[in-house]
Amino acid sequence: TQFNQLGLAEPILQALTAKGYTVPTPIQAQAIPPVLQGRDLCGIAQTGTGKTAAFALPSLTRLAADAKIRKPKSCRMLVLAPTRELASQIAESFVQYGKGLRLSVLTIFGGVPIPRQIRAMQAGVDIVVATPGRLLDLIDQHAMTLRDIEILVLDEADQMLDLGFIHALKRIHRLVPQKRQTLFFSATMPKTIAELGNAFLTDAVQVSV
Ligand code: AMP
Repeated sequence: TQFNQLGLAEPILQALTAKGYTVPTPIQAQAIPPVLQGRDLCGIAQTGTGKTAAFALPSLTRLAADAKIRKPKSCRMLVLAPTRELASQIAESFVQYGKGLRLSVLTIFGGVPIPRQIRAMQAGVDIVVATPGRLLDLIDQHAMTLRDIEILVLDEADQMLDLGFIHALKRIHRLVPQKRQTLFFSATMPKTIAELGNAFLTDAVQVSV
């Protein structure tokens, strides 16, 4: 399989060509078709397998297919990650893969002053990549809402639980719309993680690499 056989948006294919990527990795080949169809996904995959593109490429294609011209734009996609390093990497990937699309990406994490993040949110953003704690701080300060989220991604769910984010994740779960697409990734899938996944997922396609 080649990327251009999967139904991804043309500007995304151009970004992949520019990066020299032609062949999807196994997780990408498994994940991209069902995510493009709007299905929920439960993926067991480690870092280094290409899982970021596995969720970023089809999500960007779906958001681009019905780009909303709204001011201020409400956030349509939320990616949750355990650490600021991972959140930054994911956001950078979205910027690169989505550079031919009119979608804005914002990274939200703790340890930096909150007012700048609040101003950035107020400018309107399509995609937020966040660590759970700081995201809830912004919500509590009424600087953002999750009511227009169409796609929710939990990346490295096992790490998020290890870091004590279970209550934050449960709160976020209550704040996102019930009608949404959810993509759930973890390197391991013990019972606690599978239960967390089940709470977020509906009729999910299972992929494993
Ligand atoms: P990830 O598992 O998402 O952290 O990705 C691991 C690395 O593989 C990153 O540096 C990606 O840019 C790169 N990568 C992802 N997909 C592909 C692909 N289809 N072909 C070549 N490199 C890729």
